[in-house]
Amino acid sequence: MAYTYDTQNIFARILRGEIPNKTVLETAHTLAFHDIGPQAPVHVLVIPKGPYVTYDHFARDASDAEIVDFNRAVAQVCAMTGVQPGEGGQGFRAITNAGAHGVQEVPHFHLHILGGRVMGRMVAQAD
Ligand code: AMP
Repeated sequence: MAYTYDTQNIFARILRGEIPNKTVLETAHTLAFHDIGPQAPVHVLVIPKGPYVTYDHFARDASDAEIVDFNRAVAQVCAMTGVQPGEGGQGFRAITNAGAHGVQEVPHFHLHILGGRVMGRMVAQAD
């Protein structure tokens, strides 16, 4: 199946430098920045620079180099924000929403890293 990537989505525009972001980390294939509407004291979005719509799209079609770079960047963000449970932090939650049932708002794959407080229930009942 072919995914259709919307080149005008807000994260594509951030990657092109058309709108600002609060960068936490930039690597060869990955950008991490603070969420504009943080839902926890730590709320960072990690995105690949490539045009991937969802996590499964990225996992299927990205190169090995992109996938390794992305995951290493996630670890770096956890270290930089102090949430690593094995390194003295209190832990975090990683969330990625995909498609309509996942209630994905921005159609560019992103991983939310949330921490700095207890996150509560994993999944809330849909309205
Ligand atoms: P999702 O529902 O998983 O697609 O989440 C999209 C996230 O992107 C939300 O948490 C928004 O607050 C966040 N967001 C939207 N626009 C921006 C922006 N310009 N800079 C940073 N985060 C943004």
